[in-house]
Amino acid sequence: MSLPALVDPADELTIDEVRRYSRHLIIPDVGMTGQKRLKNAKVLVIGAGGLGSPALLYLAAAGVGTLGIAEFDEVDESNLQRQIIHTQSDIGRSKAVSAKESVLEANPYVNVVLHEERLDNDNVLQVFEGYDLIVDGTDNFATRYMVNDAAYFLKIPYVWGSIYRFDGQASVFWPHSGPDAPCYRCLYPEPPPPGMVPSCAEGGVLGVLCASIGSIQVNEAIKVLTGIGDPAVGKLVIYDALELEWRKLKVRKDPSCALCGDNPTVTGLIDYDAFCGAISDEAADAAVGSTISVTQLEHMLKERDEGTRDFVLVDVREPNEYEINQIPGSVLIPKGDFLNGSALEQLPSDKQIVMHCKSGVRSAETLAIVKGAGYTDAVHVGGGIVAWVNQIDPSQPAY
Ligand SMILES: [Zn+2]
Repeated sequence: MSLPALVDPADELTIDEVRRYSRHLIIPDVGMTGQKRLKNAKVLVIGAGGLGSPALLYLAAAGVGTLGIAEFDEVDESNLQRQIIHTQSDIGRSKAVSAKESVLEANPYVNVVLHEERLDNDNVLQVFEGYDLIVDGTDNFATRYMVNDAAYFLKIPYVWGSIYRFDGQASVFWPHSGPDAPCYRCLYPEPPPPGMVPSCAEGGVLGVLCASIGSIQVNEAIKVLTGIGDPAVGKLVIYDALELEWRKLKVRKDPSCALCGDNPTVTGLIDYDAFCGAISDEAADAAVGSTISVTQLEHMLKERDEGTRDFVLVDVREPNEYEINQIPGSVLIPKGDFLNGSALEQLPSDKQIVMHCKSGVRSAETLAIVKGAGYTDAVHVGGGIVAWVNQIDPSQPAY
């Protein structure tokens, strides 16, 4: 179903702009009017990361007049495998500033607005206000639900995308465009259970997948802004890079949706961290009083070497993570083996169990399982191997 153009055309294009956008202007569906709509458009991109990088560059090149960039992070070397808006010389610099410079190199006629703050309930409505459309490139569930709800309250359409390893998804959420148009909560009413979803850093992503999904997001943004084609409102686009397969599923509006349904229960911004829970209640309970620091672990390992203490240090990450770095003297038993119960057979019953993962979330989950199995003196390492590399052994690579 086609929808009316979201943005009115600007008064005119300059001679330079006509030259620059000539390959758009000679497409009848876009034409002078469509390009003037893009010039008048104000688009906010959340995150100048994997999805935000290609999205910002193509939105800029396409001639979107005002581009907002909401990003608070700094460029890290591990970003460069996919976040192509940043380069080697940007490492350690503000991502927002780095992205702005690249956007202006791509197209100096773009007005760039930076929002260098972490989006939260206190600022999100203020940041969104005044934009015609939002492109969501966030990588965590708490922010995703907040973006969905804030966009709904402000009646702003947004283009959502997500990436994981070789799989990508995208859709346009614009519940105010029609009675059947769903929101993100209609598709995913509940966030996945805590501990079940690895973060992007833990899960990994094929760099080029960001370009596939980011360009789909820009494609949909241009269609919504200019009113051409059939935007993915009420449709979920699924991409499998390994099979090279695109699928399109229908997403129905859920009449019982907590946000956009007939009897909404979410009528204002909620506590999204609590809603999405980075860590389960069981894991949080297990970790209380049973969390050691990496400094304590270093001391314990020294005592173990001297023969005055004995314990088993279990790394609950995945084998491919263990290949990157290890805490010396650890044994690898991935979290999945704790979930299916097979790990417990491998643990000695007469020794203390010390567990660690990358950052301390997965090890808290496994701690709950091990304590439940009777290892009452089990502990886990707060901050995981990230803290170990930062504070104890910087010679090891981080990831
Ligand atoms: Zn909904």
